[in-house]
Amino acid sequence: MIGLVSAMPEEMQSLLNELQISKTLEKGKRTYYQGTIFNQDVVLVFSRWGKVAAAATVTQLINSFAISEIIFSGVAGAIDSKLNIGDIVLGTELIQHDIDASPLYPSLEIPLLGITSFKTKNTTNLEIATQQFLKNYNYYFNKKTLENFDINKTPKLEKGTIVSGDQFVNSSEKIKEIQKLVPQSLCVEMEGAAVAQVCYEYEIPFQIIRIISDKADDNSHIDFPKFANEVAGKYTLGILEKYLS
Ligand code: SAH
Repeated sequence: MIGLVSAMPEEMQSLLNELQISKTLEKGKRTYYQGTIFNQDVVLVFSRWGKVAAAATVTQLINSFAISEIIFSGVAGAIDSKLNIGDIVLGTELIQHDIDASPLYPSLEIPLLGITSFKTKNTTNLEIATQQFLKNYNYYFNKKTLENFDINKTPKLEKGTIVSGDQFVNSSEKIKEIQKLVPQSLCVEMEGAAVAQVCYEYEIPFQIIRIISDKADDNSHIDFPKFANEVAGKYTLGILEKYLS
């Protein structure tokens, strides 16, 4: 069974609409929707925002269902200036930018695990699915929706480092701080590296896709629930349709 996780309901509403639900489980203020989608057995859940919320949700998911892999999808703020709103990041490594137990451990190192970054493995099929989605991009959106969110160019896929922390990043100073800590950062969000840590500890394969919703700077003024619902959710549906079919 594949676990599909997002932080906000809006990010996954399109998927939930397509899910043939067979069972729901309510635990710890979360609802786990079990069922089939594109002929695959899956469990869908909204984790809510932040590392604790995401880690608690994914731990429950792993312990309540026979989960073979987890795919996290959602929105993120750009750190690397080559990224535009609407671009997609496929995570190859996840780092918690706000963990710092120095001088006991080097900053960024997860205490007692002895590692700083969680690598994703076997992302080839998800990458192919994302490329296929991008080729048929115009099929999923009308031009006006995209223009409303300043998406003017055809979006692109970048693979690389995603950083996570318990903070909504919205200043160029904070971006610079993150770049100093993790120069290879592509984007920033609030859950990915926490989910990656739980999956690492439980030895469950983990992959993550993030759609750039803002530039994490002082003038990020977009309507998040609307972007998540009208744009990010459809990306997730389109990509996972190709991945799961
Ligand atoms: N404050 C906004 C929404 C914040 S978005 C509102 O009022 O609706 C927070 C969610 O999106 C988190 O789940 C996080 O993972 C992701 N995210 C998007 N852009 C982000 C940014 N610039 N910094 C941190 N997290 C971001």
